[in-house]
Amino acid sequence: ANFFFCVNPITPPHTMSPPVALADSAVSSPFPQSPKESPKLAANGNGAEVPCFLSDRAKATQIDGIRGLLPFETEGVVSFLAGKPNPTTFPFDSITLNLKAPVGGGDIPPAITIDGEDLDAALQYGPSAGLTKIRNWLSDLQEHVHKRKPGNWTISMGSGSQDLMSKGFAALLNPGDPILVETPVYSGVLPALRQLNAQTIEVGVDEEGLSAVKLEEVLANWPADKKRPRVIYSTPVGCNPSGCSASAQRKRDVLQVMKKYDLLMMEDDPYYFLTVDLIPSYFELEPEVFPNGGHVIRFDSFSKLLSAGLRLGYATGPKDILHAIDVQHAGSNLHTSSLSQATALRLLQHWGIDGFLNHATNVAKYYRDRRDLFEAAAHKYLDGLATWVSPIAGMFLWIDLSPAGITDSYSLIRNEALAKGVLAVPGQAFFPSGRPSTHVRVSFSIVDLEKEAPLGLQRLAEAIKDKQKE
Ligand code: PMP
Repeated sequence: ANFFFCVNPITPPHTMSPPVALADSAVSSPFPQSPKESPKLAANGNGAEVPCFLSDRAKATQIDGIRGLLPFETEGVVSFLAGKPNPTTFPFDSITLNLKAPVGGGDIPPAITIDGEDLDAALQYGPSAGLTKIRNWLSDLQEHVHKRKPGNWTISMGSGSQDLMSKGFAALLNPGDPILVETPVYSGVLPALRQLNAQTIEVGVDEEGLSAVKLEEVLANWPADKKRPRVIYSTPVGCNPSGCSASAQRKRDVLQVMKKYDLLMMEDDPYYFLTVDLIPSYFELEPEVFPNGGHVIRFDSFSKLLSAGLRLGYATGPKDILHAIDVQHAGSNLHTSSLSQATALRLLQHWGIDGFLNHATNVAKYYRDRRDLFEAAAHKYLDGLATWVSPIAGMFLWIDLSPAGITDSYSLIRNEALAKGVLAVPGQAFFPSGRPSTHVRVSFSIVDLEKEAPLGLQRLAEAIKDKQKE
């Protein structure tokens, strides 16, 4: 196999090792590495040999001279390191969170408070990988939900999964590198890919999302003289925009193709919990095909479950890749908002894993009910003009307008639909090539279901009929 080997970040001496379980992934050093120590295996498991997917830039970038020393700040060490502001000057004494009654019904829970050392952490600079307590909490969650033993993976916090993904692309791709993207693809990742001058290779989806057959086709026919893609991006559950969800078997099929071609999966899964029956993730299934791990980096988001404004997401995956993301945090925003992390942590501690999963199920049911009502209205106005696959997860209907003879939904939305007073996203936005599309993406997450949704769908139907007259 065409393995690359990465250089491990230097681990501090044993006596100084950080006291917490997960802190090692955030460890780096400003001290130059001795030639004897390079190259090592990827910093990815406990010595397990796994390929390194890092970009040249990520391999070459070290954390800065201040942050690189922070892991050495352990008990008994007098530290003159960080220019941390003195919290005596901060005006906050405690933060109280008043919670609503659960979305599924029930009593209003008592207020919860962030104070003491958790408030100190919330108000202070923190580690680039995120606050240790929330990383440990999420590590337990991942172990529980995805049935992965701790060891060859770790967690990094980000300002939303979007932040982690754009840093992930930079950690993995050299300028001009090819990347396989399921298509239609979440358009939010395209600007980051364009900035890296990445070559987006479209891989089609079917009713079960990313097609293993199409993936194999693209790779089997890859020209011998062209650099092969090593990374694939997919949103496997409640896919944005297609609404499709990949079954466990489909994911196993994709993992087999990944094994054949030595690919890394970027599993963008913000809608994972937005289905009532959770589907095993790529991260969960990875060890069946890759016993040493190292081939799936998973992106979770709190945006759909707690609040989009918290700007909180977490990546789970190979330590070397997450370390490269942490290094980018150190150079851009230093770290994800500690206040957001501490707020989420307090709530998660209050709930416990079962309470969190209970909340997630309630949210999934809420969106399922909205989908049912929205779809009923959509059938009333669009049957005969459009078709779609009913999504088992997520927030979107991916509506195919070809039954009405629409060949370019952009011009429909730009002209007839706007004139009627309705908006949806033309499918073109989700194709990296920008090619015309017969589809529109319609979101049912927030629109008023009683009046606005029927009105909008009626207007869309009228717009389609106007277009047909052209
Ligand atoms: N991935 C997908 C597929 C999304 O739909 C979104 C949000 N629209 C994101 C990532 C970004 O999520 P976050 O708010 O966690 O940055």
